[in-house]
Amino acid sequence: MTERQILVAANWKMNGTLETIRPLLQSVIQGVQGITTEVAICPPSIYIPELAVQLNGSDISLGAQNVSHLEAGAYTGEISASMLKDFGCQYVIVGHSERRALYAENDALVARKFIAVQAKGMTPILCVGELLQERESNNTEEVIARQLDAVIELAGIEAFKNAVVAYEPVWAIGTGKTATPEQAQEVHEFIRLRLARHDNETADNVRVLYGGSVKADNAEQLFKMADIDGGLIGGASLVAEDFLTICKAMR
Ligand code: PEP
Repeated sequence: MTERQILVAANWKMNGTLETIRPLLQSVIQGVQGITTEVAICPPSIYIPELAVQLNGSDISLGAQNVSHLEAGAYTGEISASMLKDFGCQYVIVGHSERRALYAENDALVARKFIAVQAKGMTPILCVGELLQERESNNTEEVIARQLDAVIELAGIEAFKNAVVAYEPVWAIGTGKTATPEQAQEVHEFIRLRLARHDNETADNVRVLYGGSVKADNAEQLFKMADIDGGLIGGASLVAEDFLTICKAMR
């Protein structure tokens, strides 16, 4: 079996102030010293320059929660991939379900964001996941396939050589309802199979994270599953002790 390094990525969403993120960050920097898991933090974009300074010399990677699909121009309020690159971002989340639902981002736009990130040498974290009614009507695989295929059509399977996929069932995000390890594993395996239709090796090597109410007390059970390579962590990443327990959860 391919050995994929576990990645635990924090999505702070629109939370925190300088006063609260500084001590949180210091605790995380100290707490992850010596661990083999890769850790990334995606703060609100206004705090990216602050984190770039604080994370300098640490092993923690810096990420962003969103990006424009466009290069530059009259797009008030947007942030380009080059700007994120300028401040040392290595990862950029694209297609988070909150952006799909609240800002009407569709599969085609998400695919364009994915290639904009890669064009600047950063790694997209592509979020995919079904709504509760889609799961209940047995459409989970159809939805995930559509979300993956949109990116493959635009970027090609090659693009998944430098990408991370995050399976985030929408019904589990911020709700306290976690998918069981078996439910998550089933979809993670499906994601790999879908990619393997194009290229086995890429499918085998790509890291597939689970996100959706991962907590200190369920991370280990999830990360033990064969196709789960870590997590994208929302709420629990705002509490240093909880986040550190998740970062230390082993396969
Ligand atoms: C997320 O924001 O991607 C997420 C998974 O949130 P939570 O861990 O709070 O469910």
